[in-house]
Amino acid sequence: MQQNHKKINNGEDYINSLKNRDLKIYLFGELVKEPTEHPIIRPSINALAKTYDLAIENPELGSVISPFTGERVSRFLNICTSANDLVLQNKMQRKLGQLTGTCFQRCVGMDAFNSLYSVTYEMDEDLGTTYHSRMKEFLKEMHQYNYVVGGAMTDVKGDRSLAPHQQADRDMFVHVVKRTKEGVYISGAKAHQTGCINSHYLIVMPTMRLGDKDKEFAIVGAVPGDAKGITYIYGRQSCDTRSMEGSIDVGNAMYGGQEAMVIFEEVFIPSDYIFMDGEYEYAALLVERFTTYHRRSYVCKSGVGDVLIGAAAAIAEMNGVSKPSHINDKLVEMTHLNETIFATGIAASYQGYETKSGCFQPDEMIANVCKLHVTKIPFDIGRMAQDMAGGLVSTLPSEQDLNHPEIGKLLQKYLKGKADVNTEDRVRILRLIENMCMGRNAVGYLTESMHGAGSPQAQKIQIARMMELEYKKRLAKIISGIDIEGDKNELVSEMGGYFSRVFKIETES
Ligand code: SF4
Ligand code: FE
Repeated sequence: MQQNHKKINNGEDYINSLKNRDLKIYLFGELVKEPTEHPIIRPSINALAKTYDLAIENPELGSVISPFTGERVSRFLNICTSANDLVLQNKMQRKLGQLTGTCFQRCVGMDAFNSLYSVTYEMDEDLGTTYHSRMKEFLKEMHQYNYVVGGAMTDVKGDRSLAPHQQADRDMFVHVVKRTKEGVYISGAKAHQTGCINSHYLIVMPTMRLGDKDKEFAIVGAVPGDAKGITYIYGRQSCDTRSMEGSIDVGNAMYGGQEAMVIFEEVFIPSDYIFMDGEYEYAALLVERFTTYHRRSYVCKSGVGDVLIGAAAAIAEMNGVSKPSHINDKLVEMTHLNETIFATGIAASYQGYETKSGCFQPDEMIANVCKLHVTKIPFDIGRMAQDMAGGLVSTLPSEQDLNHPEIGKLLQKYLKGKADVNTEDRVRILRLIENMCMGRNAVGYLTESMHGAGSPQAQKIQIARMMELEYKKRLAKIISGIDIEGDKNELVSEMGGYFSRVFKIETES
């Protein structure tokens, strides 16, 4: 891998570490020469760089002491060995959402290796493999350089009704196409990969439960982002070309998210970086643990929501309507909804439990509830923000007109809100609301909230699996007097995973 092989200590080091890599990235039908200098790509790099800067501004929140190197590294590289570690990830995510107003792209990898950490441990214990020690060696290397690790899970999937091995074209799921003594070669494609171009390494994982005929698809491994055979095709975001125009109309000129399609054509994974190879029985466990981790990572949206609530309150003030009670009522409603995301996310973390590996796993039920809220709440908050912004949020003239030597003066006059508010400031807040509800960051705040870490139906399936209706029916029958003969103590043994964790009392020894 072409790296400078120096430890990354801040955002600037990080941006420099991405320069001069030999990546094959297509955007608008052209190869991108240097992504760090591309006006559409750079805001996504800035957002990720902020994770490094936060680690300096607030080391307790943004970093940890590495158990491998004894030095401070990003909290995004931490293996969680307590529920508090999980909670601190969430607090860091909220803070970064507040600071960037967008997706900072670093959680997928973090969630991937935390879940892999426990799954590889259990695989080794059951099967006598050595994946877990490889995993630790890999993490040690990531800690040495303080790298960004991305996670690549979602396959393009082809015909959704068919298993990977049944697809007319097997490349619909990433799979092993060749083996040598040194490692394996994989082909296929991963869709909408967050922050992939901004990562130093990508952990490739299966996307769903696999069967015994899907062995070649049961591959987990780490590849450098600039590995030979990878092609990135950049995902468009609405209004993305505004980043090439100026700093006002884009709404958030500094920060943006990033998704791309990643195509693998015989990409080599050396044996040391392979963490699953053919053990299809463990694919479902990995997917389940990863999605649990990632679904409570969506507290990031409460940080982004803080920015949108702030923008809505600011525009009301600039318009001279901060006093009416219905405005305050909307802000309270937005806050209540936003805190619901945060509350369920950190609750899943606080209820985290220790796996055999020592790595903590968040509570699956509450993590799914968090993510299901995220599929709805940002849309509600976005609706109220647009309500408060007024129609101008979608009919504003352009930055060029605002700055025009003749008509600019007219716009300065006629776009004025309260007399003491600068017109350009008012336009900027409106553009930010547009950016988050309809523009570049609506990708992250709205559509990504809907589909990231699995679409709403995926969360509903998990919640249905864990809702323990038999237990709840029994409670109702006993209390209503139907089942007075039953042994009430049996209730304890009837409880499944969710309630047994809810009622578990930790006693201090
Ligand atoms: Fe992290 Fe949120 Fe972006 Fe996912 S959407 S990578 S959880 S910031
Ligand atoms: Fe995501």
